[in-house]
Amino acid sequence: MRTAEIKRRFLAYFEKDGHVVRPSVPLPAIDDPNLLFVNAGMVPFVPYFLGHRPPPWPRAASVQKCLRTPDIEEVGKTSRHGTFFQMNGNFSFGDYFKEGAITRAWDLVTKPVAEGGFGLDGDRIWVTVYHEDQEAADIWHRVIGIPRERIVFRGKADNFWSMGIPGPCGPNTEIYIDRGPEYGREGGPAVDEDRYLEFWNLVFMQYERGPGTGKEDYPILGELPAKNVDTGMGLERMAALLQGVDNLYEIDEVRPILDRAAELTGTRYHATGGRVASESHPDDVRLRIVADHVRSGLMLIGDGVTPGNEGRGYVLRRLLRRAIRAMRLLGFEEPSFPHLFPVARDCMSPSYPELARDFDRISQYAYGEEEAFLSTLRAGTTILDIAISRTKAAGGTRLSGEQAFQLHDTYGFPIDLTLEIAAEQGLQVDEEGFRRLMAEQRARAKADAQARKTGHVDLSAYRAVLEEGGEVEFTGYTEAARESRVRALLDRRGAALAGAGEGDEIEVVLDTTPFYAEGGGQQPDHGLITVGDGKLEVFDVQSPVPGLIVHRARVVRGEVRVGDTAYAEIDLARRRAVSHSHTATHLVHQTMRNFLGESATQAGSLNAPGRLRFDFNTPGAVPPSVLRDVEQQINEVLLRDLEVRWFVTSQEEALRMGALALFGEKYGERVRVVEVGDYARELCGGTHAHRSSQLGLVKILHESSIGAGVRRVEALVGLDAFRYLAREHLLVSRLAELFRVPPEQVADRVEQTVAALRDAEKELEQLRTQLVLSGAATLAAAAEDVRGTAFVATEAPEAATSGDARTLAQRVCDHIDPARPAVVAVTLRSGGKASLVVAVNAAARQHGLSAAALVKGALSGRGGGSPQLAQGGGAPAAEAPALLAAVRRALP
Ligand code: ATP
Ligand code: MG
Repeated sequence: MRTAEIKRRFLAYFEKDGHVVRPSVPLPAIDDPNLLFVNAGMVPFVPYFLGHRPPPWPRAASVQKCLRTPDIEEVGKTSRHGTFFQMNGNFSFGDYFKEGAITRAWDLVTKPVAEGGFGLDGDRIWVTVYHEDQEAADIWHRVIGIPRERIVFRGKADNFWSMGIPGPCGPNTEIYIDRGPEYGREGGPAVDEDRYLEFWNLVFMQYERGPGTGKEDYPILGELPAKNVDTGMGLERMAALLQGVDNLYEIDEVRPILDRAAELTGTRYHATGGRVASESHPDDVRLRIVADHVRSGLMLIGDGVTPGNEGRGYVLRRLLRRAIRAMRLLGFEEPSFPHLFPVARDCMSPSYPELARDFDRISQYAYGEEEAFLSTLRAGTTILDIAISRTKAAGGTRLSGEQAFQLHDTYGFPIDLTLEIAAEQGLQVDEEGFRRLMAEQRARAKADAQARKTGHVDLSAYRAVLEEGGEVEFTGYTEAARESRVRALLDRRGAALAGAGEGDEIEVVLDTTPFYAEGGGQQPDHGLITVGDGKLEVFDVQSPVPGLIVHRARVVRGEVRVGDTAYAEIDLARRRAVSHSHTATHLVHQTMRNFLGESATQAGSLNAPGRLRFDFNTPGAVPPSVLRDVEQQINEVLLRDLEVRWFVTSQEEALRMGALALFGEKYGERVRVVEVGDYARELCGGTHAHRSSQLGLVKILHESSIGAGVRRVEALVGLDAFRYLAREHLLVSRLAELFRVPPEQVADRVEQTVAALRDAEKELEQLRTQLVLSGAATLAAAAEDVRGTAFVATEAPEAATSGDARTLAQRVCDHIDPARPAVVAVTLRSGGKASLVVAVNAAARQHGLSAAALVKGALSGRGGGSPQLAQGGGAPAAEAPALLAAVRRALP
């Protein structure tokens, strides 16, 4: 049975049974910093389980895309773990409970294929239950009829389920099938989880858990408002069972990728070994890794994740790199993704047609990432080779942690590769040192990021303020000033204050405020808070925990106490300028998409007074001509004087209207949509201009790369854009005046002038050398005879360099009859100092004369060179003649 058919049957079965079928949410659609991807079918339903929102339906069913990073290392080594997989689930929100869940699962799984079921043999089914859950065990035995020996009790680690983070949890019961002796040892799930394959987990959600690590180490906070059911059946695992294959890398949605990889690398899959995954040949494991990771990469990029260095982007990068590494270990060193991704697309697009539509964008990211990584590998390997040969030359046996860290940090060279290549060369690597440096770096980055946002890392003080007084209402969409009450005062380290006086820098929380806290790239408001006689200058506003708005302020006069009535007033000019930049950012975003396609999605932004920065995903540089067109289109929109409107609506409605929503952003059910006429529509919590014409002018300054696949444009808005253009205009006018040409010819003229200058300099150089050397023959002819040695003493012409002086000395020497011993001394004055060059010919050297000795003698030791030519300096300029005389005196 094909995977798509299993999915269809599952949903049809539960739909007929009164369940509302819900679509899968995208993989990154989760609003929790502890979890990067949806990892179970129940994730989108968490608010209903917790009772935070009333469930819209008593029963639901879905097939949810999941990604589990903890399973990365398992891939290929077990038969049952994919990184990406799909979870079929049925959910009851306070409707049916244990018996309802168990009887439904059993019915569907054992119902004959001809009647719409999966036709598994009930005699081969085993189940596990939580050791305290006698009720579930009784249902399995009494109602279903499973013999007691195939019902296994297990502890919290195995049979108590949670998402791994705070949220709903409860005891569960898991359904296994015995695949037979060729898959492993007898004895049930507790003995061998590969032979006894878990395919369905029924969770009885009735508690809420708190924070903690591991599968057992967390507190139970209490009972949920209702008793719920959450089930998860692995679609791939069921497909492996119903397709009669050994593992989930061999099902119809994965196997073709594996086969293509085998073909490319010339590897024979399953050439050796039996059916047990853990005993497979390493090449088989590698092929499975390639197939799994390529598929996961396709699904992740399809859902809007792009390769990056942290968070989700890093998981994607890691998966793609592991696939590339595996291909390389199989002997394939060229780009492989262009061969593999189209196969993955064909496997998955029957269930997810958007993958085929979006394949150009998806493949651009994947192929770009592969090329970048292959060149990293090339560069890093060279550097590593050098490090290895140095270490060996120095007699070492181990690369230092710093070396490995630097390779990783500067070149992105993965540690596992460093380990492997070093091992091939018989060297070890100080892995512990490497991990320590990595941990230090990570801690630094984290503390930095936190400290930058909040000033101090501990958020508990803010949480307390929030819990005490509830959320702070932001009124600044419609007003610039308002009277409110001082709810709390904190010092810079987060300690609560009762009051503060003149000169203090404090944090102020009001009950309501018109001040916008920095967020969504928009810079915070500045302004004033007045309390009686007291006056506070607000210089920053942050929201360290959602729902709380914190003003950072300096008390410039009087004092302030908790409970005071306060008048809060924002700096309206600054707010206007920031709002205009924010609206401009929406226009840049939309216009980039118009020119570069849907894939140009926002990756970050900054909206400051008069200027903006916009980061977005796109594979390559934006050509200057496109940038010009983008700029022009934006300014045309300004001239159209479009109205900027905002309204609050449901998330579904907003998406239906085509509003741009960013993956990974936090959106509740109600969302705020900002639209600029009919031109741009985006989910946004920021403040904006009222009409597009208020922006006046948008000037794009430049575009640059800030990472693989991420570009940045910077632009000026309004008067700042005008001032910039005016300044440029002034500059060009002045140049035109200086060059005496019309402005449009300035560039040509500068180019010509620079070229002419360069020629003139070259000519000058030649002339100077000629000048210096022209006197050489005359000087030689006039050599004085000093006790049998021909001696020439001269001062080099004014413009000469020390190189010229050396050439002159040498040349004069050459002009003297080689049979005569000859010594030439040249002095040179420059910068108030005199230097001396001495040349000695071969005949004189035979008589024991040395240029170096003569220079040192004249300059009392300063200087050096060879017996033939030497120089020295540092004497006062006036002493030049004395230097020459000293050389002469030193002649024998
Ligand atoms: P295992 O112990 O085999 O890793 P699990 O206990 O982590 O499984 P659950 O969290 O209960 O699994 O998930 C519910 C169902 O989802 C499982 O019964 C299984 O069918 C499927 N599943 C879980 N993890 C994976 C995976 N990495 N790849 C494919 N299917 C999976
Ligand atoms: Mg698991």
